Amino acid sequence: MNIFEKIVNREIPATIVYEDEDTLAFMDIGPIIKGHTLVIPKTCYDPVTETPDDVLAKLIQISKRIAAAQIKGLGADGVNIIQNNGKVAGQEVPHIHFHVIPRFAGDGHHWNWAAKTYDDPAEMERLAAKIREGLTG
Ligand code: 5GP
Repeated sequence: MNIFEKIVNREIPATIVYEDEDTLAFMDIGPIIKGHTLVIPKTCYDPVTETPDDVLAKLIQISKRIAAAQIKGLGADGVNIIQNNGKVAGQEVPHIHFHVIPRFAGDGHHWNWAAKTYDDPAEMERLAAKIREGLTG
């Protein structure tokens, strides 16, 4: 059983901000910015590509509500919504979750968003063709 299932089962404590029959939102124990909230389904799915569409739809709807609540309740100036898949992508807990992170003017946080360039337009087109191919079948 993963740590989020233990939170769902109340085997370990968490500071819950929202709950319904199939979804839970609680404070991340290691916030990137204070107020950082996690939104999870009560049933474990992982990764995003194995998660049913209706579950994903519910998770993003609740994430939207949490984002609005961070703006209204915390006075956030913006919000990052992030979802990691796989260790290589920074995922630690193998139970799908959306990070909803409130952002404040002057919060001092900077993502390491180092934009790269393609060697040439043909390289971009080659990769696009492979993704299009992946969309079929
Ligand atoms: P990931 O890296 O898998 O996308 O994110 C996992 C998140 O879960 C991390 O931001 C981490 O701080 C949070 N986390 C890990 N263990 C616990 C816990 O026991 N309680 C809470 N509330 N958050 C946790």
